[in-house]
Amino acid sequence: MIVIYARKSIERENSISCETQIEYCKSMIKPDERSEKVITIVDNGFSGGNVNRDGFQKMMKLIRQGKVRKVIVYKLDRMSRSLADFVDILQEFKLHDVKFVSSQESFDTSSPYGEMIVKLLAVFAEFERTSIIERVTQAYAHRSEMGFYMGGRQPYGFELVPAVIHGIKTKKLNPIPSQIEQIRYIYEVYAQESVSLRRLLDILISEDKKPLEGSDWSTAKLSALLKNPIYVKADSDIYDYYERHGTQMITDLSMFTGEYGAQLYGRSKHKPDDPDWFDMKLVLMTHQGIVYSDIWLKCQKKLSKNKQITNSFSNGTSWLAGKIVCEKCGHHMTTVKAVINNNGEIRRYFNCTGKSHQKICTGTKVTIYAEDLENMVYDCITEKLSDLKEIKRIGKTADYSEINDLKLKLKTVEQNEKQLIDTMLSGGFNADLLALANRKAEQLKLDRIALQDRIDELKSKNEDAAVIVNLSRSWKTADYRRKKEVADIMIDKILIGEDGGTKVIWNI
Ligand SMILES: [Zn+2]
Repeated sequence: MIVIYARKSIERENSISCETQIEYCKSMIKPDERSEKVITIVDNGFSGGNVNRDGFQKMMKLIRQGKVRKVIVYKLDRMSRSLADFVDILQEFKLHDVKFVSSQESFDTSSPYGEMIVKLLAVFAEFERTSIIERVTQAYAHRSEMGFYMGGRQPYGFELVPAVIHGIKTKKLNPIPSQIEQIRYIYEVYAQESVSLRRLLDILISEDKKPLEGSDWSTAKLSALLKNPIYVKADSDIYDYYERHGTQMITDLSMFTGEYGAQLYGRSKHKPDDPDWFDMKLVLMTHQGIVYSDIWLKCQKKLSKNKQITNSFSNGTSWLAGKIVCEKCGHHMTTVKAVINNNGEIRRYFNCTGKSHQKICTGTKVTIYAEDLENMVYDCITEKLSDLKEIKRIGKTADYSEINDLKLKLKTVEQNEKQLIDTMLSGGFNADLLALANRKAEQLKLDRIALQDRIDELKSKNEDAAVIVNLSRSWKTADYRRKKEVADIMIDKILIGEDGGTKVIWNI
């Protein structure tokens, strides 16, 4: 089944009518789809920001029942004006294998181009979401500096108790002694050189040290526990550790006295297991830490070693990591940090692993500084993203021939109308034919209004504020992680020639 979804917007008085929207959608049905059942769902007078629309809900129900193969809309903003909602909708479509086509933006999720746009939108939609979270956490920043629990699942070893501090109702972590004892033991065992996560798990099972609450231990659960700074007696080494990883430090260094635990927060809810540290914050808590910092740090070192084996290319020091390839030998180039002058200035540069690890390549003759390459690729992406916009604009200039076309159609409809009225007035109809002619006249009138509607819309330079954000603008404000995600979507690889020449191989 194909669903045509139309929405009369309340945002703009003179916006295009639903009938016209539907006509446009119908024109998007391909010849080989003509035999398929087409149903039309219309929402009247709802805002695009509101997904609680009757028709919209009806459509989603059909989709969830697996009855829909394709959804066609006139314009993307018919779906939703919120990018975050829009991306959620698209994800649900994808889940149920529903194709999505918009007639005005030549947007088709079944094309590679459409697929890439969806991925890019998702990256920026997440940005929209996290900036909301950001605002909330900023509001809580003062509160958190006093060490209040910032929410999320209550960590093993503690119970959350309501507390009123400085007149603010909040929650506090209270240690549970029997569980705390287990945690201390887990850290001590894992800190030993020979003990892997797997071995740690075996030891706990053989000694019958089951969790006193919640599900059984697993290596994932143990790894999460061992990574959590809520258990450490946070001192200056801990401060240093997180600061070096780019974590934003909320509490002042002078407070890191080795007494209190800390909480890491700000992790995106969409990537709960993201090992990267950027855009995370660390705040000191009011509860006593359990594990000494040297033991805690030893565990981190072991955990990150595990990580590097599975993920040797993304060393996190450049958002282009994993994309850079030496043209000469075909091996990846990874970032290296080096002091470049007597002032101790450190710069990152890309090094051919064929040279550094395997000695089969002589590498590049010039130094490829990560910053220079990042800047160059950054500009390329900016250009590429505005190209994507350009495709839309070309669509707009084609409107003039469309207007002309519509005017011709309008003229024909007007002539037909006139002819019909003339015939009716000449009295050549019996009652049945007159009723039929009336209906025909009514239809022609609707056609005329629809055409006029569309012509007016095309003429008006007043563009709808489409749901699609200006991608190149979002790109300008993208942080490290989003840069990396966008680069991952758009770029296949970047070849570096021996003389430092650069070739970007795009995914599309
Ligand atoms: Zn090489």
